[in-house]
Amino acid sequence: MKKRIMPIIMMLIGILFACAVTHAAAVEKTEYTVREGTNSAVVNVMITFDSKITEVVPCVVGATESQLRVLLNGAHVVDVSRNSLDGKYAKEIIFQPAGKTFAEAVINCTKSMRIAECRGEIRTQTDGKSIVILTMSLASHGDGSGGIKGKTIILDAGHGGSDCGAIGPSGVYEKDITLAVAKELQKQLITEGANVLMTRTTDRDVSHREGASVGVELGDRVVVAEELQADVFVSIHLNSFTSPDIGGVETYYYQGSQEGERLAYAVQKSLMDQFDLKDRGVKTANFYLLRNSSMPSILTELAFISNPREEQLLISSNAQALFAQAILTGLKQYFSA
Ligand SMILES: [Zn+2]
Repeated sequence: MKKRIMPIIMMLIGILFACAVTHAAAVEKTEYTVREGTNSAVVNVMITFDSKITEVVPCVVGATESQLRVLLNGAHVVDVSRNSLDGKYAKEIIFQPAGKTFAEAVINCTKSMRIAECRGEIRTQTDGKSIVILTMSLASHGDGSGGIKGKTIILDAGHGGSDCGAIGPSGVYEKDITLAVAKELQKQLITEGANVLMTRTTDRDVSHREGASVGVELGDRVVVAEELQADVFVSIHLNSFTSPDIGGVETYYYQGSQEGERLAYAVQKSLMDQFDLKDRGVKTANFYLLRNSSMPSILTELAFISNPREEQLLISSNAQALFAQAILTGLKQYFSA
């Protein structure tokens, strides 16, 4: 009896062991798409694995700015393999082993571009295969002219239509102030030679879908931003709090985005130079808009609509023009650095 069971047990152990070893996912194919913008490009690299990838850690930029290194947990690469890309923005992707459960993907971009942003996400399909999507925003090293001329800026006037945003003590709607400032900024940017795209120019919901949820609404704003391939995305909002004494300016960027951080600091500083308001600082946030747009993106809270003094400032058309001018100065500073 024992003699018959032992080989079966050994076989089962063998199968389990084999499963554990072959569990690691192997690369099936890589795809590469490019969307070109003004002095920028968004490169998407999609890597299909034959089984599940558990983690993707991008943004490990190597010694040069034109190399992206990505750690893939669950991927298994025995030998170095190379896939050549079209060479216009990225030359090749190299897969190499990196420890027991990790593999590393190295994407070599062309030297003329720097990686401004990068994101990684995993989509696991019903058949158990994982697709890793790496999104890189590439920007030229600067055209020497600096400045804002020729840049494409998306302006998002927060809220609108059925969504009023916060409401001030005298009944002012956030959505009306954000639109007024955005339109003023649009005018000023056009004068400076920038291309401006507004997510809305009237009091309306951005989504064309009737009764869209907040999630769909925000998603549609990101779709607008991505489709237009802009250089930066600026969302304008007003803050609000239960206590009327609280006031000040704060600007958000998506955590981990270096370019977003640089843009947020430039705009916050400029707003502080312009107004005698409390500096609440630059902060990171996980706002949907910031997380889901691949270009440097900020959300600025100009002041507190819940604070009566700041509400009065916000409704003045002179102040609205100054808010716009301060954001413009911040943008110019960002692009000239
Ligand atoms: Zn808001």
